[in-house]
Amino acid sequence: MKGFDYIKATDITSACEPATADTATFIAGGTNLLDLMKLEIETPETLVDINPLELKQIEPTTDGGLKIGTLVTNSELAAHPDIVANYPVLSRALLAGASGQLRNKASTGGNLLQRTRCYYFYQTDAPCNKREPGTGCPAINGENRLLAILGTSDACIAQHPSDMAVAMQALGVKVATHKTDGTTRTLTLDELYSLPKDTPHVETVLEAGELITHVILPPPVAGTHTYDKVRDRASYAFALVSCAAIIDVDEAGVIQTARLAFGGIGTMPWRNTAVEEALIGTKGDTLAVVKASNLLLADAKGYGKNDFKIPLTERLLQQVIERAITQPSSHRSASKPSSQTGA
Ligand SMILES: Cc1cc2nc3c(=O)[nH]c(=O)nc-3n(C[C@H](O)[C@H](O)[C@H](O)COP(=O)(O)OP(=O)(O)OC[C@H]3O[C@@H](n4cnc5c(N)ncnc54)[C@H](O)[C@@H]3O)c2cc1C
Ligand code: SF4
Repeated sequence: MKGFDYIKATDITSACEPATADTATFIAGGTNLLDLMKLEIETPETLVDINPLELKQIEPTTDGGLKIGTLVTNSELAAHPDIVANYPVLSRALLAGASGQLRNKASTGGNLLQRTRCYYFYQTDAPCNKREPGTGCPAINGENRLLAILGTSDACIAQHPSDMAVAMQALGVKVATHKTDGTTRTLTLDELYSLPKDTPHVETVLEAGELITHVILPPPVAGTHTYDKVRDRASYAFALVSCAAIIDVDEAGVIQTARLAFGGIGTMPWRNTAVEEALIGTKGDTLAVVKASNLLLADAKGYGKNDFKIPLTERLLQQVIERAITQPSSHRSASKPSSQTGA
């Protein structure tokens, strides 16, 4: 590991110190960053430890949502009573990730910004456009079983690894940040993440020294909340394909609202609202599900060993819709949407 300076941040302003922003890296739980530093994939000159910051709370927002501090651990978030009752899709996704020990350390912000699990990215004697721009992408014709089929480019096909972010994508969260010049901004996940295109080393729009301070959940979304993760092992395994779903079905079995986001298949947590629109007003019959699958996978591209993800995604979508129709009261969130509660 390369030597580095270590600074304990005392407040948000000092954490986002402009003088060191270009050469410094934040550390939260360290469960991804330390591995990357040991392999010298990341070599910060200064490590800014953000753990002392007052960003460990989960607080209500005025519109009935929740504001999650970036340092809330994955375990704390999954077990929080408001999350369990009103955002069960998020709790389930978190519990499907990593292991108990890792979730006790992993933070909300760190989970969003964890790096890909592409084997070649971690194999430092192999070329990799994401690690060393311009060197090539051996995964395209190599070991790509885990990698993406949507949002890929000729430069990189690495999948986004987070489970939590998939549920957050379905919920429509916003990420609040603080920049080195003292200004703040909020970003949707579609705004935060960048597709690989020809610059796969650029994974987000965050500027040097820009700190994620919170994740903001909108008011609860009614419906059946599920998170399904197809993987090679029950623990310590990233998703081959996953689906976060919030589906509301009326007494006649007609889908009223649907939110669907997918993991394991995209270079970012994948949501396509056209898929949801194709299901609304239907009873989830075969024709409707096939239409939705076709919309979801219209641009999907397999690279050989990951071709199986295309039919696997179709079957997972079918299972999710079938269950929402046949067991609409299971996995329901406790809250009704704000339009029904008047909140
Ligand atoms: C064996 C193993 C299995 C795993 N399995 C899964 C799994 O199945 N599903 C899953 O989703 N994840 C899995 N993970 C990944 C794990 O969830 C992440 O490592 C963890 O969430 C990262 O959080 P952290 O706080 O430790 O981040 P760190 O390692 O501290 O940081 C990660 C990155 O985020 C940046 N960062 C952290 N906080 C901020 C902030 N507030 N603002 C700006 N930048 C920030 C850091 O600079 C760094 O670049 C696994 C990890 C391991 C080691
Ligand atoms: S898929 Fe991306 S991360 Fe993997 S080898 Fe290719 S460029 Fe590197």
